[in-house]
Amino acid sequence: MRLQEVDDLGDRRSGGEHLGDTLALQLFDIRFWDRPAYDHEDVLYPVFLQSAEDPGDEGHVGAGEDGDPDRVRVLLNGGLDDLLGRLVEACVDDLHTCVAKGAGDDLRAPIVAVQTGLRNNHANFSGHVGKYMEVRLTVIGSSPAWPNPGSAQSGYLVEGSEKLLLDCGPGVLGRLRKNGAQVDAVAITHFHLDHWGDLVSWAWLNAYGPEEHRIRCAVWVPPNGIQELTTFAAHWGNDRMFEEAFDLHEYEGHVRTEIAGFEFEAHRLPHYTLEAYGFRIREGDKLLAYSGDCAPTPELAELAHGADLFVCEATLAHGNRDGSPRGHLSAEEALAAADGPILLTHRPVELPSPEGASVAYDGLSVEI
Ligand SMILES: [Zn+2]
Repeated sequence: MRLQEVDDLGDRRSGGEHLGDTLALQLFDIRFWDRPAYDHEDVLYPVFLQSAEDPGDEGHVGAGEDGDPDRVRVLLNGGLDDLLGRLVEACVDDLHTCVAKGAGDDLRAPIVAVQTGLRNNHANFSGHVGKYMEVRLTVIGSSPAWPNPGSAQSGYLVEGSEKLLLDCGPGVLGRLRKNGAQVDAVAITHFHLDHWGDLVSWAWLNAYGPEEHRIRCAVWVPPNGIQELTTFAAHWGNDRMFEEAFDLHEYEGHVRTEIAGFEFEAHRLPHYTLEAYGFRIREGDKLLAYSGDCAPTPELAELAHGADLFVCEATLAHGNRDGSPRGHLSAEEALAAADGPILLTHRPVELPSPEGASVAYDGLSVEI
């Protein structure tokens, strides 16, 4: 699938759509060009739905017209039948068809919305959120305070209607650039280097890099974090480097706000003597919880409660291998805080994985 093509098409979409008109069901559709695929390309191409004003060759049988008052049958021409068959072959696993709500409803054009995990750029698309769209987590970097071989440090890209990066440790920016990823916002849990260090490199990119390679985005930091950044930057001779590079904001603990299309809530967590936060991030009915670093605490279970996925650090081999006050978790302590699916991360590669537990690695991408 050519994701760039999808994004390009998304940018070209006409604005002003809403769920009530004939184009309202313009979720990304997938059809096939009327030509064979070349060897070097995938066979699926995204295009938009044809207008519902154009019924094409398909016909429909309304409820009751075939003697069964409760059923609506749809007659497909050869082309659409072929399309459906090929979608199944291509393992498109979530297919929604237009369904009549009552007797006599006109199904009109063959509208086939396919849930593909494709990004939707449309800013006024909140009506679809959670109903048609997925939330996807991609682990950009999973390393603890010292990097695992070949791995980047903390960075987790959450994609829904927009893209939110959780933490930005050393190595993350290079990975993002390699993949051509655009980011709408970054949220930083705390100011340990392995969770924010690549914001420094990112600020240089946005200051001196080629204009077309700069990645402008919002950056959300803990309370008083903007002053913290200014203090850091002053050591390097330009105390405005971060505010010139990013659109800076501070979140507040337990205050819901919208960041990159997500409902975002930060929870204060104990982490040695540093001010640190975990995040609860929701879009539609999907909830992701994330703890960057944390000592054992009942607040961790509150953070994780009800999450469709809880991403949690598990740095330690044993809880007794920590400082005082404590600041990290063993895998067992992390698992104990979860009441649902959990992905352990920030774990030294030298440590074993608990049996049956999922451990993050760079490049892992999962639908939440
Ligand atoms: Zn830390």
